[in-house]
Amino acid sequence: MITIYSDKHRLRNSKTELYGGQLVPPFENPSRADIVLERVKSENLGEVISPREFGMEPVLALHDAGFVEFLQVAWEEWTKTGYKGEAMANCWPARRMSQRVPDFIEGKIGYYSLANETSISKGTWEAAEASKDVALTGAELILSGNENGVFSLCRPPGHHAAFDMFGGYCFLNNAAIAAQWFRDNGIDRVAILDIDFHHGNGTQDIFYQRDDVLYLSLHGDPRDAFPHFSGYQEETGQNTGEGTTYNWPLPPGTQFNKWCDCLKESLAKIDQFEAEVIIVSLGVDTFEKDPISFFKLKSEDFLTIGKLISDLKLTTLFVMEGGYDIKELGVNAVNVLQGFEE
Ligand SMILES: [Zn+2]
Repeated sequence: MITIYSDKHRLRNSKTELYGGQLVPPFENPSRADIVLERVKSENLGEVISPREFGMEPVLALHDAGFVEFLQVAWEEWTKTGYKGEAMANCWPARRMSQRVPDFIEGKIGYYSLANETSISKGTWEAAEASKDVALTGAELILSGNENGVFSLCRPPGHHAAFDMFGGYCFLNNAAIAAQWFRDNGIDRVAILDIDFHHGNGTQDIFYQRDDVLYLSLHGDPRDAFPHFSGYQEETGQNTGEGTTYNWPLPPGTQFNKWCDCLKESLAKIDQFEAEVIIVSLGVDTFEKDPISFFKLKSEDFLTIGKLISDLKLTTLFVMEGGYDIKELGVNAVNVLQGFEE
């Protein structure tokens, strides 16, 4: 299996995350992509290639133009204020408040974010831009004949990034951008299977009112898990998108057998939908030792996941999302890909 990877992920190297009331070194850091790449190489998974640049058109096909412009200038505007730390929101357009974009950067960050753990740092935009190119290059390779599966080793991840909001370590929604690119290049029906521990609120948001992209997610119940305000079972899509969003929120301590039953249900939905291409939002923070999650999957379970996905016999693009147990992250991510290829 071909892997797409860019060194530019290192430009996303923030120093602070707000966690448990403290500023801590971010769980989402460059060592994540390094360890996965190392495993790809040590297991001889296949060729590793660099992305090509796709420009902004595929991004603006589904993200808000004002939001994208904000991401491009946020760090520069923040540093001009003289603030000492990295860029973080402290105020949001919450219930019954004005939904307008303020002029001052602090207000803009509040307007364009859905959470406050993720600070914007120098180089964040450049890394996010390269990450979507990693996803798009994977999509392009699939359409040019690599139908047996491609791995886009994206970092920063993307599935929390919504139409006009960043957060949850995500800035541009790599999987959604790839899905839209497939739609714009002759693929009629795309399924996005999100197996990251967290609900992909951003991907759901982007396709919630559309019936051409099926979104399915297995995740920690939002009553107990980030992003807390998205991912309930009754969220099933709206308007023409009604019935093309599926959520499986699962409780703390969920073991693989229960999780796997839900995966099988989701795969049956993909089959019924008659998807031509699947994009797997590949998060492995479902792992039992993940420091910020609460499922109990073991390393060998990730092989089974890959095998079950391959049983659909559909063209599959794997897009890297979360996974924060650095020690086992490479093994777990590559296990999915190896299970798929077996
Ligand atoms: Zn996650």
